[in-house]
Amino acid sequence: MVRTRFAPSPTGFLHIGSARTALFSWAFAKHNSGEFILRVEDTDVERSTQESVDSILDAMKWLDLNYDEGPYFQMQRMDRYKEVIQQMLENGTAYYCYCSKEELDKLREEQMANKEKPRYNRKCLNNHNHDTSRKPVVRFKNPTEGSVVWNDLVKGCIEISNSELDDLIIARSDGTPTYNFCVVVDDWDMKITHVTRGDDHVNNTPRQINILQALGAPIPQYAHLPMILRDDGQKMSKRRDPVSVMQYEEMGVLPEALLNYLSRLCWGHGDEEVFSIQQFVEWFNLDNISPSPARFDMKKLFWVNAQHIKAMTNADLLQVLAPRLSKLNLDIDTLDINAILDLVKTRGDNLNVIAQEIAYFYLPQELNPEDVTKHLTDDARKVLSDFAVYVNALTDWSLDAIKALIKEFCAKHNVKMPQLGMSLRLKLCGTTQTPSFDAVIYILGKNNVLDRLAK
Ligand code: GLU
Repeated sequence: MVRTRFAPSPTGFLHIGSARTALFSWAFAKHNSGEFILRVEDTDVERSTQESVDSILDAMKWLDLNYDEGPYFQMQRMDRYKEVIQQMLENGTAYYCYCSKEELDKLREEQMANKEKPRYNRKCLNNHNHDTSRKPVVRFKNPTEGSVVWNDLVKGCIEISNSELDDLIIARSDGTPTYNFCVVVDDWDMKITHVTRGDDHVNNTPRQINILQALGAPIPQYAHLPMILRDDGQKMSKRRDPVSVMQYEEMGVLPEALLNYLSRLCWGHGDEEVFSIQQFVEWFNLDNISPSPARFDMKKLFWVNAQHIKAMTNADLLQVLAPRLSKLNLDIDTLDINAILDLVKTRGDNLNVIAQEIAYFYLPQELNPEDVTKHLTDDARKVLSDFAVYVNALTDWSLDAIKALIKEFCAKHNVKMPQLGMSLRLKLCGTTQTPSFDAVIYILGKNNVLDRLAK
């Protein structure tokens, strides 16, 4: 059974790049009817916070990337790591090292001076006259011969000579296990078959494989995903770019649109651009991921978002708009919200704009003085009050009748339709940017139209 995991460190919000990692990991499990595990790597106690844990979990929930197991927390697994370290000490795949920082610094300087690669010289492995007053660290006994080879599902075959690898410290002198070691024990215990993660972890992989081998554990397959860069090829930065998943929620992006967009960063299915998450799961596997970095194109993301908004049923759209509409204090039931949604759902590439488009039906926007000078002149006001008389006399409140009425009014009063449209829109909605004004009149209903014209 395929088992994948997403293993964020809770040192901040869920980063957009990590969300893509989570998505690929999740989708690969789903595609293979496997299981997806969430593991919180919180052993960096200085930098990990509960707030970050919560915000990562919230973002996963918002994206609807459900996990079959977890969240596991590494800090709750300390006993297990210590148990494995003890076993390794006993079977000789790890050893205590009592060397002081000064000794290690000196060793490094000597090696550098001799143009050798700095690495631990295994003094404590062979020499048992330690200064035992000092608390030792535990080192992994890395193989000295041969190399580590793995067939990365994204990067292809990678081979690292063991002569490049040091005897990694797996437990600090206070007994706490170190990062790479926890990852190894977890991937082993959690029976992970495929490790999908950012390619900043490529350097850790040979060390992790060696430890897994020493433990007699199966070696998972690895897929190291390339970075996501800005559109201009630079690194994304917290200060400059929206890099937190929830910032996209604030910008009115639908989670399914964000996932759709993210899915196409380093992966693709022909020319398909807009698809559902179910469709993605059906198509996705780890074989055809591009090894070069992806570029984040904000415009494209919002275009994809617009397509998803457009394709939603009114009921679904209303549901996702609900928090925004309730913030605007609109009494939705007073107008035909379905008719409004039909008109406005193609008029914006994010939910904030769509909510604003809905809002002016219920509450005219505040007028901007320029529009007033331009479109609500004394003449225009006179036209509008004449128009109100026509509206008042209309008995058949249908779109066709309203269209006919407008035509008739313009002909009789010698008014150009676009001109009437501008001043009407302003009076009715407070903005000249509305859908076709006959439809607006129809939706608002006679009383609202007359009320607003009278104001
Ligand atoms: N905790 C690591 C990170 O957030 C991920 C480690 C892994 O996936 O192996 O970058």
